[in-house]
Amino acid sequence: MGIIYRVNMTDLSVRAQTPDECDRELGGRGLTSRIVADEVPPNGHPLSEENKLILAPGTLTGTGAPCSGRLSAGAKSPLTRTIKEANSGGMGAIALATCGVQAIVLEGKPADGKLHRLVVTPEGIRIEPAGDLAGLGNYETVARQFDEFGDKISCISIGQAGEMRAAAASIAVTDIEGRPTRHCGRGGLGAVMGSKGVKVIVVDPTGGKRPKPADPDAFRRGAKKFNAALAQHPLTGDGLPKFGTNSLANVINAAGAYPTRNFKDGRFEGTEPISGERQHDIILERGGEIAHPCHRGCTIRCSRTYVDENGRFVTKGPEYETIWAHGANCGIDDLDAIARMDRLDDDFGLDTIETGATIAVAMEAGIIPFGDAEGAIQLIEEVGRGTPLGRLIAAGAEVLGKAYGIARVPTVKGQAMPAYDPRAVQGIGVTYATSTMGADHTAGYAVAPNVLGVGGKVDPLKPDGQVELSRNLQIATAAIDTSGLCLFVAFAVLDDPAAMEGICEMLTGLLGRPFSADDFLALGKRTLAAERRFNAAAGFNPAWDRLPDFFRKEKLPPHDATFRVPDEELDKVYSEIE
Ligand code: SF4
Repeated sequence: MGIIYRVNMTDLSVRAQTPDECDRELGGRGLTSRIVADEVPPNGHPLSEENKLILAPGTLTGTGAPCSGRLSAGAKSPLTRTIKEANSGGMGAIALATCGVQAIVLEGKPADGKLHRLVVTPEGIRIEPAGDLAGLGNYETVARQFDEFGDKISCISIGQAGEMRAAAASIAVTDIEGRPTRHCGRGGLGAVMGSKGVKVIVVDPTGGKRPKPADPDAFRRGAKKFNAALAQHPLTGDGLPKFGTNSLANVINAAGAYPTRNFKDGRFEGTEPISGERQHDIILERGGEIAHPCHRGCTIRCSRTYVDENGRFVTKGPEYETIWAHGANCGIDDLDAIARMDRLDDDFGLDTIETGATIAVAMEAGIIPFGDAEGAIQLIEEVGRGTPLGRLIAAGAEVLGKAYGIARVPTVKGQAMPAYDPRAVQGIGVTYATSTMGADHTAGYAVAPNVLGVGGKVDPLKPDGQVELSRNLQIATAAIDTSGLCLFVAFAVLDDPAAMEGICEMLTGLLGRPFSADDFLALGKRTLAAERRFNAAAGFNPAWDRLPDFFRKEKLPPHDATFRVPDEELDKVYSEIE
């Protein structure tokens, strides 16, 4: 059991709290959503002192469980105005767990608007002035912390976008090399951190202790079984380490579901130069790295290190969603230009999906033409300079679309859709429409059975079975996000019963009481129910659980598909949960 720290940014005080009965076994999204649902006024402004930003490692984080280093951030979102949880890899969560932290709850906001730095150690948390960090990007911000504190620390920080309280601002988490490459990207939670006046949280775990399982033998047995299942699955054991997340580019393009030029086509003629296979070859030719873990203890290792022609580090990955958002969705087929955009997004602290989608809307508006890589880079640089156009870009696709009178804006509840067209993957359309957090592929990854043949097979072009599929995936995902496990473990969980058994055995060993698959799913249902309760109180009714109407009207080539899941079916997604 860890400590929940209440950090009041109004009077700059810190209170350590022992978790009560209902929070004792919670971590990650289960804990962040429980606190937001119970303590944040649903109708309050997301940037007001009433909102709270909660940072929580998962239940298994720090225990040595494979792939369990996720850090959840939760708050009311400035982008969607719903409840929001976004989680990230990197070393921040493991460092917090080693300091004995179950959660940090940032409350209030400084009356003078000044920025601060939090320093977390096993002894507690202290608040300091941020000094001359104001206005810096994430890279320079964290480099100064490593210079000052040494290489054992991890950092959780915001860049210029978070300081501007922009609705597409992310929270950066440093990776194993101390770079701010991992992000709680979605929903503008970096803006909430900025509104709390926190520039960076330095976590120094020196002298701390990892969480200890109550029954170490049971835990070890579970971890071994789980790891074996991950190693044996073709995606988690081979495809993801070798080609990374961007191995999806060719697959989704072949399925006719790769959104191209702001969701006008399902296939991009420039996919090959930005594919995972090409990325793999470029990285190895230039001396970069594949099969790279974003935190210690990740055995899947889907990340990579992208270097320029002279072998100098540019950025991590980039990941599939990032390459798509700045690539096919903008008509750009230049991987080096996309890597530069990813680096800028990470430095300024921007969600790469929202940023790419916003640039595509800017192209639709005629600000720059589709395919203009240098123009796209300049638009992101406007964010770093804080120009009026840069602030519009950082406010997200929906705001830019309104500013320029664009009708085709691919958002749900204000959040841009990721890299799967819902007309060609109907199951992910159900998830986009009904997720508690706006359009979010990670909320219920129906792409797996719709396209990848993982976890069964459901025809991606037909509405049949998609509601039940999305519901089950959304429940399982909420539980995985609570455990601190990386969502990519779900590929093995969906196909191999031993993976789920391993997770339950690890939780049994950790908690010292029997923990079944039913207990796991109950955790997911409870989390979703709390999130739905918050959203309903904030004014979100079933009419919000819809895709923009152009997805029902415009036919998507090459299948000439439209989104065909009826509204009354969408309204049944949560019927067994609430
Ligand atoms: S699988 Fe990839 S994203 Fe997940 S923890 Fe490992 S490196 Fe990070």
